[in-house]
Amino acid sequence: MTTPGPKVMVFGLGGTIAMTSGTGEGVSPTLSAGDLVDAVPGLASAGIDIEVVDFRRRPGASLTFADIAALATAATHELAAGAAGVVITQGTDTIEETAYLLDLLHQRPEPVVVTGAMRNPTMAGADGPANLLAAIQTAASPAARDKGCLVVLADEIHAARWVTKTHSTSGATFRSSDTGPIGYVTEGAVRLLTRVPHRLTTPTPRQAEHARVGLYTVSLDDDATLLDAIGRHCDGLVVAGFGVGHVPEPLVDTLTALAERIPVILASRTPAGPMLTRTYGFPGSESDLLARGLIPAGWLHPYKARILLRALLAAQAKPQDIAPAFAVAGSLDEPSSWPWPTPIPTGDRTETAAAHA
Ligand code: ASP
Repeated sequence: MTTPGPKVMVFGLGGTIAMTSGTGEGVSPTLSAGDLVDAVPGLASAGIDIEVVDFRRRPGASLTFADIAALATAATHELAAGAAGVVITQGTDTIEETAYLLDLLHQRPEPVVVTGAMRNPTMAGADGPANLLAAIQTAASPAARDKGCLVVLADEIHAARWVTKTHSTSGATFRSSDTGPIGYVTEGAVRLLTRVPHRLTTPTPRQAEHARVGLYTVSLDDDATLLDAIGRHCDGLVVAGFGVGHVPEPLVDTLTALAERIPVILASRTPAGPMLTRTYGFPGSESDLLARGLIPAGWLHPYKARILLRALLAAQAKPQDIAPAFAVAGSLDEPSSWPWPTPIPTGDRTETAAAHA
């Protein structure tokens, strides 16, 4: 009798990886998770037991926070029931956001791996099958445990916390500009070169939660009119500033007033590198804005910062917990005061422990 291989659950959410056109017009999501798995050469002989769930069938642009929260719950259920790992196939347009949200909501040690495709199944050189195979191999690998949510495309393994989509059409679009990939899938094996700095999780959001978290990108010669209009509808706001965290001077009073009412996170619109906190001193500089109550995003880029703020508000974080949470999530240090339990590496068990308060 042969020992059964590890079980990997594949959740299909749609996206280009699942898109075809019956009419010769534009493609849209039509393929099921089962269709995607059936199209992967070599999977049958990989010794992995695959089960599929058709979870959603949408373009990445139409996935919601509630979809991903429900997915995190479903993934936890399957892992608790014995799956070795989970793979999610979805549209690449929103992977950098959904993967980070899954990372925050995933408390267990088993890998949750997100993948997709840049070239749909009707195109020459479609990348879906190769990406799905590498993602499944990663999800089945003990080497990928205790890393939270990973993004696997083009045989590269990225940490959800760092990865961004950097090119609208290239197959090599996913990059972790600050760090590079944390590893690769080579000859079917997971090879990790570095580690993620820390794993932080937030509680499962309440079902009816709908915090409105805005993202405002500053630009040349901006005045406060649009910021003012957007800000009044927000429960929280991320400002993507210039460089190390600068805004035009005419925005300063509006931001100061907003920061008195709601959490306002200051991030950088520049694709790589951290925010600074104490280098520049002019009105609208990073140190000026932080002194006015804005919260620094550290190394978190604006899309990730927005996901974290939304997750914190959904978890009904106390106002005084928001700045410490960003101080931890935006830094490279071991967590010192994370307000919620964080997963600790366990080998083969799951435990959570309050980070040393
Ligand atoms: N271009 C996207 C993709 O790569 C479309 C989507 O996100 O659904 O999947």
